[in-house]
Amino acid sequence: MAQGELKSSVLNRKRNPKSPVASRSSKRQKIAEHRKSLPIASEEERLIEAVQKNDILIIVGETGSGKTTQLPQFLFNAGFCREGKMVGITQPRRIAALTIAKRVAEECDVRLGQKVGYSVRFDDTTSSSTRLKYMTDGFLLREALVDRLLSRYSVIIIDEAHERTVHTDVLLALLKKVQRERSEIGGGVLRGCQGRKVSPLKLIIMSASLDARVFCDYYGGAKDFRVEGRQFDVDIFYTVHPETDYVDAALNTIFQIHSEEEEGDILVFLTGQEEIESVERLVQEKLKHLPEDERKLLPLAIFSALPSEQQMRVFAPAPIGFRKVVLATNIAETSITIPGIRYVVDSGVVKARTYDPNKGMETLDVVPVSKAQAIQRSGRAGRDGYGKSFHLYPERDFWKLEDSTKPEIKRCNLSNVILQLKALGIDDILGFDFIDKPSRSAIVKALAELHLLGALTDDCKLAKPAGEQMARLPLEPVYSRALILANQFNCLEEMLIIVAMLSVESIFYDPRQKREEARTSRNHFVSVEGDHLTYLSVYRELDEFLEERKAEKSEAKVEKIMRKWCKVNFVNSRSLKHARDIYRQIRGNVEQMGFNVSSCGNDMLEYRRCIAASFFLKAAQRQMDGTYRALESGEIVHIHPSSVLFRSKPECVIFDELMQTSQKYINNLTRIDPLWLAELAPHHYKTEE
Ligand code: ADP
Ligand code: MG
Repeated sequence: MAQGELKSSVLNRKRNPKSPVASRSSKRQKIAEHRKSLPIASEEERLIEAVQKNDILIIVGETGSGKTTQLPQFLFNAGFCREGKMVGITQPRRIAALTIAKRVAEECDVRLGQKVGYSVRFDDTTSSSTRLKYMTDGFLLREALVDRLLSRYSVIIIDEAHERTVHTDVLLALLKKVQRERSEIGGGVLRGCQGRKVSPLKLIIMSASLDARVFCDYYGGAKDFRVEGRQFDVDIFYTVHPETDYVDAALNTIFQIHSEEEEGDILVFLTGQEEIESVERLVQEKLKHLPEDERKLLPLAIFSALPSEQQMRVFAPAPIGFRKVVLATNIAETSITIPGIRYVVDSGVVKARTYDPNKGMETLDVVPVSKAQAIQRSGRAGRDGYGKSFHLYPERDFWKLEDSTKPEIKRCNLSNVILQLKALGIDDILGFDFIDKPSRSAIVKALAELHLLGALTDDCKLAKPAGEQMARLPLEPVYSRALILANQFNCLEEMLIIVAMLSVESIFYDPRQKREEARTSRNHFVSVEGDHLTYLSVYRELDEFLEERKAEKSEAKVEKIMRKWCKVNFVNSRSLKHARDIYRQIRGNVEQMGFNVSSCGNDMLEYRRCIAASFFLKAAQRQMDGTYRALESGEIVHIHPSSVLFRSKPECVIFDELMQTSQKYINNLTRIDPLWLAELAPHHYKTEE
């Protein structure tokens, strides 16, 4: 297709004032045209033939060429979903699974959850009629616990394999095994698969990076298939000097583009929810001070915890005359393609998990991106036409970046995946066929941790029932264990709330200009016992508030009431809504396991003891100089200023989070009595004679 044609279809932003019927059919037509214009469209026949001929296929193609949205539809049309079989597509990120499934449902003109659906942790929209199932890699791994041969799938596509998340890496190995086992069974019926016929499994690995060799080699010389992309020129700009504050620099760059550059939307890469929300507010603030005709800039956020109704807004064209500025995490690097982007602003950083197995410490740090990521980010400006990419660091710093990101399996706490592998019956972890083997010390450390948490027996076998229960819950082992213990301490209700609240980012909303006001209005939540109990009272108070207004039937009304309550109390309503969803889901999980959800009411002593018993590996003790020592790692740490215990500095605390910024901070704390550790975790803390 000619470049001019593509450009005009993208820049056509006129509103269609026709009747709903006419607009629906014109929408369908538009979608059909868009699908035909994608580079992958002309490859359909060749692709299907390659899948039919090869049991394993590695597909490599430029981002935006149509791999994720189109290939599953091609497979459906070619009959891969006959007899109730499904095509499963995994994504490293939940938000990609969600938005792409919605888009594909739209393209197929079906309601989400029918032919096309998605399943991610805490949110499953699929039904018995779902044939194209988008999900996170973690979700598929969990599904293997219930159906080891993944017998409902005729094809499994591991998408975004270049991201090398720990779940993707484990799936790459596991599916190799599943494929072998399924082909050995042939067309037979296997017990445990509800009488389903088990047919051979087709495996497709998709990647945006040009280096497919690593996957081809891993699968014994598997065939690779290249989809040609379409990429326009992008001018690259760097700063002259290093920036001290990339958020500030991003903000200035956004407004500079807005005032100096031609029409076209902006995509800004930032690190997380909190930062994105703060930039969103700063843009809005700054806009208020501009003359009326320069205000036509529409900031839109996209990050994983964003409620689903808001996620799709980034894909809609901006109103006529407006310029969109999409504030994204690295989700927009390769997983999703937002039409209309012409300008990219790259902060040069990303939030990444790092783990030190020797200290048993995992931290979530803001770190520089890799060269591959920076290049991929600039490429996003050249999807629809010529673009510009602004990097907020000097060019010499670009050359100092790592070539590519280290696979996550080499830098994360392995206890979760090892527990899952054990539950899948894979006992020899050290001998497991990983594409990139984690270090021996990381594996040994994880096994030891699982043993301490009671998930493994002394000879490293899955403990029954605790280990099985922990593997089944969609949580990190330490949280699963907390729920199991809370059941014994009769405070399961409270622990469910805390685990849900700890699963979301930034519960409180702290605007820079109103910090004092925020603090005062939140005072009544604050517990002298720490952050966990403070979160508990936030959750409970909102619950009571909504209970009093439960006459309100419409969901939209309830949500409005909730948003208002959050605003008055300086609580982040997005986060709280997310936490309430998570609570409902995990409550369902534990009830299914036969637990009776009981509450300790106001007996916070019992609850704190339960926290100490659950998180004994994350205890820290105050030292003479007022700093703290993390008991497990021996690290010197400080209480984070945002913790409610920052001033009171109790003698001993349990922490949930350890982060490294200018120094090592612990956050989300509960005050405990140090003697409890020896009493409640005697296998780990011996009392001194
Ligand atoms: P790939 O997987 O090769 O990176 P995708 O299949 O994700 O490509 O995307 C193909 C095209 O579909 C992209 O050019 C993008 O513009 C478009 N697209 C994807 N999702 C949406 C959406 N939610 N709304 C509008 N367009 C979309
Ligand atoms: Mg894709």
